[in-house]
Amino acid sequence: MALLGQSIPISFSKTSFNKLYVNGKYIKSNSTDTLSLLNPKDGTLVAEKIPIADKVDVDTAVKHAEAAFNGPWATFTSSQRSECFRRLADILETKLPDILHLDSLTTGNPVSLIPTREKNYIKNCLLYYAGWTDKLRGDYFPADDGFVKLVRQEPLGVCVAINPYNSPVASLFIKAAPCLATGNVLIVKPSEKSPLGSLAVAPLFEEAGFPPGVVQVLPGDGKTGALLAEHMRVRKISFTGSVATGKKIQIAAAQSNLKRVTLELGGKSPAVIFEDADIDNAVTWTINGILARTGQVCVAASRVYVQKSISEKFISQYVERMKAAALGIGDPQDPDTRYGPLADSAAFEKVRAMISRGKGEAELVVGGNQIGTKGCFIEPTVFLNPKPDAEIYRNEVFGPVVVVKTFDTEEEVIEAANDTEYGLMAGVFTKDINRALRVSARIDSGVVGVNCVSMMHIQAPFGGKKASGIGREFGEYALRAFTEPKTILINM
Ligand code: NAD
Repeated sequence: MALLGQSIPISFSKTSFNKLYVNGKYIKSNSTDTLSLLNPKDGTLVAEKIPIADKVDVDTAVKHAEAAFNGPWATFTSSQRSECFRRLADILETKLPDILHLDSLTTGNPVSLIPTREKNYIKNCLLYYAGWTDKLRGDYFPADDGFVKLVRQEPLGVCVAINPYNSPVASLFIKAAPCLATGNVLIVKPSEKSPLGSLAVAPLFEEAGFPPGVVQVLPGDGKTGALLAEHMRVRKISFTGSVATGKKIQIAAAQSNLKRVTLELGGKSPAVIFEDADIDNAVTWTINGILARTGQVCVAASRVYVQKSISEKFISQYVERMKAAALGIGDPQDPDTRYGPLADSAAFEKVRAMISRGKGEAELVVGGNQIGTKGCFIEPTVFLNPKPDAEIYRNEVFGPVVVVKTFDTEEEVIEAANDTEYGLMAGVFTKDINRALRVSARIDSGVVGVNCVSMMHIQAPFGGKKASGIGREFGEYALRAFTEPKTILINM
């Protein structure tokens, strides 16, 4: 990779990364197809000649991954695995800010998030799973019929992480930590829009003591992802991305070797504000919920339902705060910036087109325009009272665009919140604990926040119902997703 014309204070900025990371080394790709990456703040070229890994590259990485799975890594004790995690967390303490800074050049994620959120999130994830390496238990059933039954939780083997563009390094660690804690090996396929951080982080695994081949990185696009999804020696795909790609991966998995899949897909998350809610708290959470990473998060609070009796007060506060938030949008590499641009011109054009069509289907109350004349900046945008089938109300926008609707009754809002194919996250804002629990139980999503929204916690399962996905990440659930039980029957 050649990094062009970008002044970034990082040690590896001059290093050549126009390679794959395979078996502990940066190696040349067999492919001549390459990617160029632009900074979404102004369209300047950040890097070029990033390889798009092809079939030969994929086969090479899988071969080394299999060798690593059966090599010294298989003999690591749980405490040795845990030590690797802890050493990696220490190494990242100093190196992660530069790596995340590098990613910011292509994702547009503000560098202001690095010290406050990103770094801690990734370190917590590693330390959390460092504590799990010796705790995943099997099972035992007594020999009352003459057979003792032992159940072992065994690793799957060669696993693949296929990641989206919005938070590439965090996605890498969310998948790598439970995958490695259970003794698997991992090939990472970052998004074609944001491979830099993943390529930069790869050698740190060996520096921390993981053997070569345990974590490898293959940059590429959908074709590379498809080669991995259909590969006969890959045992698991852990995918985060769109519903459309998730379906293709599930088909490829079924048609090849029935490899296991975890799918973390899109969302259209509802936030329900009841009349007894703390309005200030609800406004704060729902605004953060739609503006974090400029709306490019799967759990974005993109549908807000507010009870009619408080709707005037809530909506006026909400709109004012959205207008004020526009002032926090700017150069993502400026440490004072809160919100950056959309990740590239394709994302920008898609969001603009949805806003434009939305104007005929709902009332635009604020935003909707490009900010400035260059770059992928878009105003925080609020629509009111959508038509029932409005695209802006039904489909994931993946931008800073929210639709607000009023409601009268609990029953009515539960029905509206559930009237979607998505089911990832929801928020319920009320001071009545009975109502909070009643409504949470009836909302059809993998996660419900009470008096909060658009958040996740490493201890608790995270993932979607319905078209938002299959399986769960985080907590013990992720460890289960990277292992399979084996039963041993002992004839006494
Ligand atoms: P995407 O589906 O376009 O791409 C995701 C990854 O899949 C990329 O690495 C891409 O190269 C790869 N890919 C594309 N075609 C493929 C194929 N045929 N086979 C295998 N891999 C293929 O998604 P995106 O635009 O990068 O990310 C945005 C989407 O991700 C949104 O829908 C968002 O909601 C979702 N997302 C979900 C979560 C979650 O945890 N649920 C988190 C972040 C993002």
